[in-house]
Amino acid sequence: MDWKEISRRVIEGEGITRAEAMRILLSTDDELLSVLDAAFAIRLRCFGRGVRLHVLRNAQSGGCSEDCGYCSQSARASASVAPKYPWQSREEIIAGAREAHRMQAVRYCVVSSGRAPADAEMNEICETVRAIKAEVPIQVCLSLGLLSPAQARQLKEAGADRYNHNLETSERNFPHLCTTHSYADRVATARAVKTAGLELCCGGLLGAGENMEDRVELAFALQDVGADSIPINFLDPRPGTPFERYPRIRPSNCLRALAMFRFVHPSTEIRVAGGREACLGPMQALTLYPANSMFTDGYLTTPGQGYNADLALLAAAGFRVDDLTQAQRPAENEATPGENE
Ligand code: SF4
Repeated sequence: MDWKEISRRVIEGEGITRAEAMRILLSTDDELLSVLDAAFAIRLRCFGRGVRLHVLRNAQSGGCSEDCGYCSQSARASASVAPKYPWQSREEIIAGAREAHRMQAVRYCVVSSGRAPADAEMNEICETVRAIKAEVPIQVCLSLGLLSPAQARQLKEAGADRYNHNLETSERNFPHLCTTHSYADRVATARAVKTAGLELCCGGLLGAGENMEDRVELAFALQDVGADSIPINFLDPRPGTPFERYPRIRPSNCLRALAMFRFVHPSTEIRVAGGREACLGPMQALTLYPANSMFTDGYLTTPGQGYNADLALLAAAGFRVDDLTQAQRPAENEATPGENE
């Protein structure tokens, strides 16, 4: 396979087929560096060597009614696996934004457990967004579960920049992950976010019982919903959850998947997300050849390797942290509609 030729085509706006996406996932270990090199050519063209740092805030943890099999905050998980606390105070959440800005993060991702925010909670959430935006030069992303069109408009009016709601996996595999809401529910929230004029952060979880075709389907479904940012999580099986005995994905398969997402989404922000340290270990730096974004300072319910170690990783591999201006600039070869059909 001439990986460089495919990446040249992608850079020229042609896009790849599902068969080619599958071929990336099935490439051999001997081909891996060539695949990464070809994905890097696309990344370099669109984003240079910049890395966008994101910081997560678990503003409300545990006690969720939904049954997502991978999640330690689910009602299906053992009672003690995740901390349980209600929505944090406005001052605590704003303090987290200040700290994220100090860590050079371009986005502060405020997350709550639960199926969906109650209308009664939206006022406090919106006031918190307004307060952050008034004080801290950082983009605000929220991840609050299923959202109605009216709630999406409320967040937009409050000044939120982005909303995260992952499709997680293919439509076929989704019932294996969750039965208390549907894939269609998730697509409806993604569409409400776009219609309200918010940026859509929408990605998935790999290693959750899907096959390679499911990974390809997810990549193309994310085109259909118009994802502006794609977080790719790798399952780090949590004790006490239904998925606790799932094996971790091999590092080389994490890298193939990130490369495939880069080929399908040449000019979209792709973030190596949860499970980076657990699944890739000493190969983490290679994720930045296809991906141009990462979480730093840990995840919702698990610690990461820490901010200083993340900075050292970037520097050692010759990448630099993007500031807000760089992160808001459109990618160099902005995707054209239908380019990957
Ligand atoms: S809806 Fe979110 S918080 Fe609730 S179980 Fe699913 S992933 Fe966890």
